[in-house]
Parts: sequence; structure tokens; C-alpha cells
Amino acid sequence: MSAVCAASAVMVTRAVAAKTTKSVSLSKASPTRRGRASVATRAVELATGETLEVKPVPMRVGHGFDLHRMETLAEMPDLELWLGGIKLEHDRGCVAHSDGDVLLHCVFDAITGALGLPDIGQCFPDNDPKWKGCTSDVFIKEAVRLMRDSGYEMGNIDCTIIAQKPKISPHKKAIKENLARLLECDEGVVNVKAKTHEKVDSLGENRSIACHTVCMLVKV
Ligand SMILES: [Zn+2]
Repeated sequence: MSAVCAASAVMVTRAVAAKTTKSVSLSKASPTRRGRASVATRAVELATGETLEVKPVPMRVGHGFDLHRMETLAEMPDLELWLGGIKLEHDRGCVAHSDGDVLLHCVFDAITGALGLPDIGQCFPDNDPKWKGCTSDVFIKEAVRLMRDSGYEMGNIDCTIIAQKPKISPHKKAIKENLARLLECDEGVVNVKAKTHEKVDSLGENRSIACHTVCMLVKV
């Protein structure tokens, strides 16, 4: 190491040490700062009637995942395939308690996940006949209500559909538009992507369909 480099290294080390000392002394000398971190929570009521608390930190990130089995219409003619509130024509449909919309189900979980609230199965138990056969836009309206009641709005949301068939690309625009409408947010903060599963496993063999969603909520 040259003398210049050695001198710079010493200066950097000192700068880091000074910074560390400053931040330590700040948190030590500033009880109000620590107090601000434990701001009052906001109470929200779930569809089940249970009341839970949400801590209003500036931003919250959530992830959702869902998968449904698909069966052929030849075997189960009543089945349908819904994605993002759009019905797609396909020779298979989803087996589910509701309409089996994997995208909307994982969007719900991403939003409640960000808020630190329970998943869709706990909010809408599948042994409750009230939710049997209901369309999934009901779940999204509830997620939006929970988000608003907690004091948040959609920062952005990114969904990835995994399906071997049918081809999703011709429907992406309609799915994205409908999702933005359901979430009552600008289309510019909604993204819908799709990929196949390289013909492997149940997803790749067209026996199931899945979706991942990540969202960021911003405090209003
Ligand atoms: Zn589902």
C-alpha cells in the first residue's frame, strides 16, 4: 500500500468511526427519536370481525403467492379460468372454493402481508359458505379497505403469473387495467408479468397455475 493509500485508509477509518460515534451518541442522547419509532398503532377490523393493530411506519412491503390445480373441462365442465378478474378461454379451469383467481388471491396476500395482517384463508375461511363461489374482486375490495383503514395507499405492485398454457401475453393489458381499477390506483404503479414453467412439474404440465406478487404500500 502506498503512503497516499495508507493515509486515505486512515482518513476513511476515522470518518467511519466519527459517523458511528455520532449515530451512537444520537440514539443515546435522543430518547424522543426512539419514542417516535414506537408511534401509536392503527386498529383495523377484518371481515371476520377480529380487530388487529397496524403500526404506521412510512413504507411496508408485502409478498403473496397462490397456486390452484387445473382440471380439464372434459372432466369438470363447470370450471373456469379467471386471472386478474378477466375470464380466459382455455380447455382447463381452476379447482377452488371461489373463482380460483390466483392473481387476485396473491394480490390480497401481498397487501395484507405488507400490513402485517392475516392471509386470505384466515380472512375468508373456506368452510364459511358465505364466500363459496364468490368472485375474487370481493377480496380485493376488502384488501383496499384494509389498506385505507390502516392509513396506506398503493406505492407499486408487481405480479408474475406462472402458466404453461394458455398464453398470457395477449391478456396482460386487460389484466393490468382491471387490476388498477380494482385497486383504485394509477395503472403506472401496476405491473403484470408472465412466464411458463419450462414444461416441468404440475405448472409446466398445465395441471396448475400460480402467481407471485410483491407490493409496496406508502403511508398517506
Ligand atoms: Zn387461491
